[in-house]
Amino acid sequence: MKGVNGKAIDGSKKKWRVLVTRRIPRAGLERLEPDCDYRVLAETGVPAQADVVRAAAGVDGIISLLTERIDAAVMDAAPGLKVVANYAVGFDNIDLDEAARRGVVVTNTPGVLTETTADFAWALILAAARRVIEGDDEVRAGRWRTWEPEGLLGVDIHGAVLGVVGFGRIGQAVARRGEGFGMRVIFHDPGRPGSIPLEELLRTADIISLHVPLTPSTRHLIDAPRLKLCKPTAVLVNTSRGGVIDQDALAEALVSGTIFAAGLDVFETEPLPPTHPLARLKNVVLAPHIASASRATRDRMAVMAAENLLAVLRGETPPNPVVGGSAGGSRNDAD
Ligand code: NAD
Repeated sequence: MKGVNGKAIDGSKKKWRVLVTRRIPRAGLERLEPDCDYRVLAETGVPAQADVVRAAAGVDGIISLLTERIDAAVMDAAPGLKVVANYAVGFDNIDLDEAARRGVVVTNTPGVLTETTADFAWALILAAARRVIEGDDEVRAGRWRTWEPEGLLGVDIHGAVLGVVGFGRIGQAVARRGEGFGMRVIFHDPGRPGSIPLEELLRTADIISLHVPLTPSTRHLIDAPRLKLCKPTAVLVNTSRGGVIDQDALAEALVSGTIFAAGLDVFETEPLPPTHPLARLKNVVLAPHIASASRATRDRMAVMAAENLLAVLRGETPPNPVVGGSAGGSRNDAD
């Protein structure tokens, strides 16, 4: 029981009860240790939703990952919940309206993963446009016979038009790298000066890279009719969220040659079942949601999530509020 100034009646310092839904890097957990009794629910893999609800009982704060749904049931289990600190910049796994209604602060980890994620978007752009994985397969399988004048021809990146959809932190970081390749950058992000209509971008761009948050208005932003607007030589890369693309329409577009190739780090259902039509296509590069996966960045995300959580529990304004946590609350997905 808490007494005055966070001290328990017996004089010892009361620790906050915190649920960490899955193991995050040590650097973050160390921040929690002095002030929190924390429990890491899943050491490996994704916990069952029912276990998340059970483990939330009575906690003051939650550090969640994008694989866990933090919804009304979880919040009901923790009537004293003050903060959900997401270990991600995206927060589509959290019911923000429920959190706002209950006065639960939601935070995310913007900025620290921007450059790492942009690097990986470029890994997919280069791999898909220049058929790196197909080439690797040929070499390993012993199918590489000789230098071929027209073997594994790809599309050029240098001097091409880069179309960025969602010109926020990561979109701009991808664009900066494009300038190094001598590309002309165009973007779609309504409200930002210089934004062009999505349809015009899709007709014009040689490389299209998606960097919007997943919201009701961006779900299936790239659907069958919009794919048909693209050049047959276009390369589409998605490191945002899987739901931004109609995945079945994309598979068809890749089979029919509506676009040249794709690179995907994110999927409508994760993990992508290996039986999915996309997994059988050569002209798509698939990655298991690893765009932010560098040692340094994942450590920084862990520290940031912990600091956000601790700030709210201490009654301070957290550095990265998405809902609540500052005067009038804010959703920081616009900058
Ligand atoms: P951000 O908020 O800085 O940028 C998002 C941009 O999208 C904003 O400028 C916003 O105005 C714009 N936008 C919103 N709706 C739009 C629409 N309908 N059309 C065009 N633009 C729209 O966010 P960020 O830090 O750049 O991250 C972007 C997203 O990338 C995150 O929401 C997250 O889901 C995803 N992400 C994925 C990974 C990964 O591991 N694959 C890593 C980091 C981020």
